[in-house]
Amino acid sequence: MKMNELCHEIISSRSAYDSIQPKYCQLPKGHSGKHSEFHYLDHLRTVQKSVADKIKRDSTMTTGAAWKSAEAGPNRILRWVMLLSDSDLKHYEIQMDKLKPQVVAKLREKSATYDDCMAVAKKLTWLVYQMNEAPKPPQDIREYLENYFGKMVSGSTTCIICKEKLSFSLFSKAQRGKAEIETGHISPREHNAENVGFAHRECNIAQGNKTVLEFYDWIRGIIKRVDNR
Ligand SMILES: [Zn+2]
Ligand SMILES: [Zn+2]
Repeated sequence: MKMNELCHEIISSRSAYDSIQPKYCQLPKGHSGKHSEFHYLDHLRTVQKSVADKIKRDSTMTTGAAWKSAEAGPNRILRWVMLLSDSDLKHYEIQMDKLKPQVVAKLREKSATYDDCMAVAKKLTWLVYQMNEAPKPPQDIREYLENYFGKMVSGSTTCIICKEKLSFSLFSKAQRGKAEIETGHISPREHNAENVGFAHRECNIAQGNKTVLEFYDWIRGIIKRVDNR
């Protein structure tokens, strides 16, 4: 499959973490107009801003503790920042040794390179456009995403866990403030384009720390014991 050749111009921002990893323009080489890191989310942002924001957040940020505190650690942090050593993180006022070991483990297993995060955001966008009831992507965005992941088939995106087809409308349905669709990982500790997708919130919770295959084995065992009683 041909990949897009990217502009890759550095986009400066005021982020304290820019010295760790600059942001790069993800538009095709030789593009016109302004440089942009997430141009392929521009259309989704106009249709439903929360979905575009979610893709950007889930692809680039760790989910940390529910509350920010010295013990619980940063609420959300860029995944590539979590690739730095404990001593390097001290320069950014992140004291890993002050956090509980479980919190450190959780943050560290969510770490990912900038390039993997960029690829995840593109993959999630490609998947959103293939959900039932999803808006149609503008031609340039369609082509850009198809260059990475192949032809889009409307209505083909399923929950990576239960394999039920997912509808775009699930994004706006929320229970107790929690969206019904979450970003999921086939193997929970790998954040890359091959390993991510969308899952029902309930499926994602049920999968927990298992890989999807481990989860199926566990479920199979349960069903077998229940049926044989
Ligand atoms: Zn550019
Ligand atoms: Zn599901």
